[in-house]
Amino acid sequence: MARWAQALAIGAGLLGSAVPAHAQSRFADATTMTWDGVLTGIFLGLLLFSLAYNAAFYALLRERFLIWQSGRALAYFALAIGLSPLAMGPILAPDSFARQVWISFFFDLGVVVSGPFLRAYLERDTIPRWAWPLLGWPPFLILLTTPVTVMAAPPALYFALRNLALLAMLILCVTTITIALRRGSRTARYQAAAWSGIGGVYGVSLLHDIILKAPFEAFLFALFPALGLEVMLTALGVLDRLVRLRRERQEARAQAEAMRVIAHTDPLTGLPNRRAIEESYKGEAPVAIAIVDIDHFKAINDRHGHDVGDRVIFATGVALGSGSAMAARIGGEEFALLFRCEAGAVAGEAEKLRRRVGAYIAQMVPSLQRPVTASMGLVHIARDTSFGAAMKSADINLYAAKESGRDRVVFVEAA
Ligand code: GH3
Ligand code: MG
Ligand code: MG
Repeated sequence: MARWAQALAIGAGLLGSAVPAHAQSRFADATTMTWDGVLTGIFLGLLLFSLAYNAAFYALLRERFLIWQSGRALAYFALAIGLSPLAMGPILAPDSFARQVWISFFFDLGVVVSGPFLRAYLERDTIPRWAWPLLGWPPFLILLTTPVTVMAAPPALYFALRNLALLAMLILCVTTITIALRRGSRTARYQAAAWSGIGGVYGVSLLHDIILKAPFEAFLFALFPALGLEVMLTALGVLDRLVRLRRERQEARAQAEAMRVIAHTDPLTGLPNRRAIEESYKGEAPVAIAIVDIDHFKAINDRHGHDVGDRVIFATGVALGSGSAMAARIGGEEFALLFRCEAGAVAGEAEKLRRRVGAYIAQMVPSLQRPVTASMGLVHIARDTSFGAAMKSADINLYAAKESGRDRVVFVEAA
């Protein structure tokens, strides 16, 4: 957005440093023209629009490049005021030294911020690795050339320093965009298009200055349409980038959610796994917890094969998941249940589910000749019992169920 302002700034900068004689006289001429105030007004209006546009999108999407862009818009707002014929009091009087410093400083600031702006704006994988650190804080060194003016160093040194720094920045930005373009950056395409008009105007201007040795009289007239084009293309580029970033974020969020589900799901039964049930327990403590284990499961595997064993596990999952308790597979043929019903209803519900295991297995795995049973260790949960302690108590009861003959629930309060 502020790129068109930057363009004006580049004009001012080039005029003020590289070709001071042409530039200053050109600007001095411009300020005496009647349309100059109008152009400045349009210019400042566009900058305000740019700031509002960035702020609105930033409120929605918190993308850092919008802040850098606003920083540039603010710098060029100050610059445009400095370049304008506006009366600015005795300190910033036209042709004053302070006004020159003001213009240089805000021009440099706008250029400097283009580095971090590009870095945040372009797609990260299209930025060359070597350019990444250079586009961060090093450009801010350019600002050190401004105090040289203030300290009244020899003007030749100042111009040399400043032009060198600005030239380095120009090469850095153009190279970065060119490489990003070659790597297929869509954002760089908008950026290159946005800059092309201004580049053309400067090309013609330089042609006039260097080859024709005559100032490009229509400079500002040509520059403003180029700046307008730049505003529009940059606004489009920003919008396009934001839309894509939003889509990328939604995809990343969906992917993260899918990963979370996978990490909490048992692949064989589709039930929650141990991690999931532990998180659920910590989120809202249940009134009771049970561990269910299929009896003589190893024999099923041995007699019918691992595949049939898997189908038995699957049927057990379906049976235990059909009730109101939260069911999870926590090991080979071991399951856990969290009861969040009335405390008095736990024992009945637990026994119903345990019996359902045998019934479902008989129905879903008919090739088994013998009925399959399950044992269960059940405990009430006292307040502030940890998940580990609750599981340990349930396991003690499960062991007791196995020891006392299997195919039953043991529900004595563990010590
Ligand atoms: P108990 O009545 O004392 O529980 O006897 P059990 O045979 O059921 O107990 P044990 O723990 O000795 O056997 C569990 C078997 O479960 C051993 C292991 O090979 C098998 N197993 C573990 N995970 C899987 C699985 O994912 N699929 C199948 N098919 N078998 C599994
Ligand atoms: Mg078993
Ligand atoms: Mg077991």
